[in-house]
Amino acid sequence: WCGMRVPLIAANWKMNKTIPEAVVLAQDICNNLDRFDTSDFELVVFAPALDIKPVKTVFEFEKMPIELGAQNFYYEQSGAFTGEISPAMIQSAGCSWALVGHSERRELFGETNDIVHRKVLAALEHQLNVMLCVGESAYVRDSHEELSFVEQQLKAAFAQVDASCACHCAVAYEPLWAIGTGVSAPPESAERMGAHIRSVLLDIFGMKDGEQPRILYGGSVTPGSVANLMNMPHIDGVLVGKASLEARSFVPLVQAA
Ligand code: PGA
Repeated sequence: WCGMRVPLIAANWKMNKTIPEAVVLAQDICNNLDRFDTSDFELVVFAPALDIKPVKTVFEFEKMPIELGAQNFYYEQSGAFTGEISPAMIQSAGCSWALVGHSERRELFGETNDIVHRKVLAALEHQLNVMLCVGESAYVRDSHEELSFVEQQLKAAFAQVDASCACHCAVAYEPLWAIGTGVSAPPESAERMGAHIRSVLLDIFGMKDGEQPRILYGGSVTPGSVANLMNMPHIDGVLVGKASLEARSFVPLVQAA
């Protein structure tokens, strides 16, 4: 996809779906989504770690071009890190993407900008595409600090990342005040931040728009809001939580995009 800014729709299942439930959902998506619908898009499902392999098997069997991503991993290669999974492990389970820096990981599990940075480097080193999440809280927004806040997150995460890796990265702008609320950010405010992110990325990687990471919006995206968001010039895609948990909302969302 390098250099093309192909629209990207990503599902974040978060901590939902046992293996049997995940298989049913994957099958449901395949049964209801015409392959034709997917030809102009890149589609990625960020599934819970245990669901990755079984879901991948369903998509492969159905010849459905949907990629798999991991929601979390540790940045070390291997060793005495009880309970953790490595980039090589998620890759061997069938992932081509890794989600890094989701606000729930930052807020609930103490992931700092430094940890996020190490994870970005580790994922790229293992040929995983990185979807970096950034976004400000309502407090930061109300203090009018959101542009510099997101800029800091981007600069910390992509420090020491070679420009040749830029097109293997995507940035999901997910304002905390929109996630899980049922109301997505107004397209104009997503666009304003999208344009800012684009200019910061230009600063970091020093390259043309098309070779830069794609920029997504995330936070209560629905079948009703997706088209207006994706019509914004700096928004190349969406990261979808709740509406990705059932085929009857996710499939119409992909079709509306
Ligand atoms: P939501 O989640 O669509 O349920 O708001 C988005 C996300 O947190 O990635």
